[in-house]
Amino acid sequence: MGRRLLLPHTRRLMLFLRPMRYSASATATATAGSLRDPLHVCVVGSGPAGFYTAEKMLKGREGVRVDIIDRLPTPFGLVRSGVAPDHPETKIVVNQFSRVAANPRCSFFGNVTLGSDLSLSELRKTYDVVVLAYGAESDRSFGIPGEDLRGIHSAREFVWWYNGHPDMCNLAPDLTNTDSAVVLGQGNVALDVARILLRCTTELASTDIADYALDALRSSTIRRKVYLVGRRGPVQAACTAKELREILGLKNVNVYIKEADLATSPADKEEMRNSRIKRRVYELLSKAATVHQENNDNDRKELHFVFFRKPTKFLPSEDGSTVGAMELEKTLLKDDGATGKQVAVGTGEFEELKCGIVLKSIGYKSLPIEGLSFDKYRGVVPNLRGRVLSSESETATVEPGLYVVGWLKRGPTGIVATNLHCAEETVDSILEDDRKGLFTDPSGPKRQGRRGLLEILEQKNARYVPFDGWEKIDTKEKADGELKNKPREKITRWNELLEAAREG
Ligand code: NAP
Repeated sequence: MGRRLLLPHTRRLMLFLRPMRYSASATATATAGSLRDPLHVCVVGSGPAGFYTAEKMLKGREGVRVDIIDRLPTPFGLVRSGVAPDHPETKIVVNQFSRVAANPRCSFFGNVTLGSDLSLSELRKTYDVVVLAYGAESDRSFGIPGEDLRGIHSAREFVWWYNGHPDMCNLAPDLTNTDSAVVLGQGNVALDVARILLRCTTELASTDIADYALDALRSSTIRRKVYLVGRRGPVQAACTAKELREILGLKNVNVYIKEADLATSPADKEEMRNSRIKRRVYELLSKAATVHQENNDNDRKELHFVFFRKPTKFLPSEDGSTVGAMELEKTLLKDDGATGKQVAVGTGEFEELKCGIVLKSIGYKSLPIEGLSFDKYRGVVPNLRGRVLSSESETATVEPGLYVVGWLKRGPTGIVATNLHCAEETVDSILEDDRKGLFTDPSGPKRQGRRGLLEILEQKNARYVPFDGWEKIDTKEKADGELKNKPREKITRWNELLEAAREG
C-alpha cells in the first residue's frame, strides 16, 4: 500500500516566537506575550491525559493551537484499548474528547510515531510547547527463571488482545490446553483480566470485545480455576471496592479465600483505620470467604484468592512446550523500616501451583525515547509539576517548552479521571511559563506548529490519519457492531484500520 498524506481541514497558520532557555531556578527575563498571541502546542498521545491537556489548553489560552499526535490510527489510548469491554460507562468520556477534537483550534494526527516518523528534537523545533502524554506501553517483569515460557503473557498484552489493539491481534493466548489460569497481582487490571476469563460469554457477546477474543473465550477450557495471587494480604490488595464487588458477584463463580489469610495484625488494623478503601476491600473479601460453601454446584467456575505468596519460578509443562506451574514462596509482612509500609518477605517455604496460562499483572511501564531524560527506576520522566527536567539530579534544569502528563509523569496508577487533575497541574505550569514570557524570544527562529509538522510528515512520506479518518473507522465499527448487537465491532488490523480511515 502506497504512503500518502491525508490532509486535515486547512487552517490558517500563524507565526510566532521561540521560547527562551531557562532553568528551574531562573526568573524569566523575557517580556510576557499577549495571551491572544498564537501558541503552538503539540500533545504526544491521545489517551485521557492527552485529551484533558488539550481541553485545558484550549480553554486556558486564547491564541493556542493544539495538535495531538498518536502512533495508532485511533484516538483515546487506554479508553479504547485498556478499559474492559464490560465497562461501557467508563468509555462515555470519549464523547467529551471528541468535542475537544472538533474544536477548530485542535487537530488529530493518528498513525504518527514519535521516535520513528519524527524525533523529539524535530518536534521541539516545530512547536513552542510539547507535552508528552504517551503513557505506559510496556510491562514490569519479575526477572525470575522461566519468565519467557510460552503461555505467560503480561496483563497489558492480554488486555490489548481482548480490546482489539492492532499490536496484539495475533497474540492468540492458548485458553484450551488447561483448566487453570494464574493471574499474578491483585490490582484492578488483575481483576479485569480474571473477570474476562470468568464472565459468561453470553454477557460478553454484547460488549465491544474483539470478535476473535470472544470466540477464544467461548472455546476456553478454563472452566475450573482462576487464581489471583498477591504477595501481600487481603488488607493490602491493590484493587478497589467497586471492582472487587463486581468480580465477587459474577454469575456461576464460586469464590475461595482461606480463612487463615483473613487474620489481621495490629499493623493491618492501623492500615484499615487510615483507609476507607482498604477497609471496604477487606470487608468484601471477608464476607466472600463465607459464602461459597452454599454454592457447590459442579458447573460453577472457581475464583481463588491466593494471599501471601510471591512468585519465584515459572515451571514448564511436562513436555516443556509451555508453562505448567508456578513456584510460589510463602511470605509474611514486615515493616519496611523507612516508610512504615508493610512489605512481603519470603519465608523460605515453597509450593507449586499448576496452571496452563499465566497473566502477569504487576504494573505497566513507560518507555524512554531518544533525547528525553528518564528515571529508569520509577519509570517516569523527571519533572517539576509537569515541567520536564534534564535529569533526576538536584542540579537538573527545566527543559524549555517540554512538559509531561499522565502515566509518563506520575507512574502507572489512577483511574481515567485522575488524569484530569494531572493535566490541570501540567497546564497550569505551561500557562504560568507563558505568562512569564518564556515562549517569547524575538531573536529566535519562529516555530511553525502545524505547518511545520505537515512539512516533516510530507518529507518523510508518512501517512497520517486525521480525526475525520478516525470518524470513518468509528462509523464502520459501529455499523459492523449493530449487525451483531454490539456497540461496535473493532477493526483490529493495522492495514484494515488505515483502509477504513481512507474510505467513505
Ligand atoms: P496496581 O494497582 O499498581 O497493582 C499492581 C499489583 O501488582 C499489586 O497487587 C502489587 O502488589 C503487585 N505487584 C507489583 N510488583 C510485584 C512483584 N514484584 N511481585 C508480586 N506482585 C507485585 O496496578 P494495575 O492493576 O496495573 O492498575 C494500574 C492503575 O489502573 C491502578 O491505579 C488501577 O486502579 C487503575 N485501573 C482502574 C480500573 C478501574 O477503575 N476499573 C481498571 C483497571 C486499572 P503490591 O501491592 O504488594 O506491590
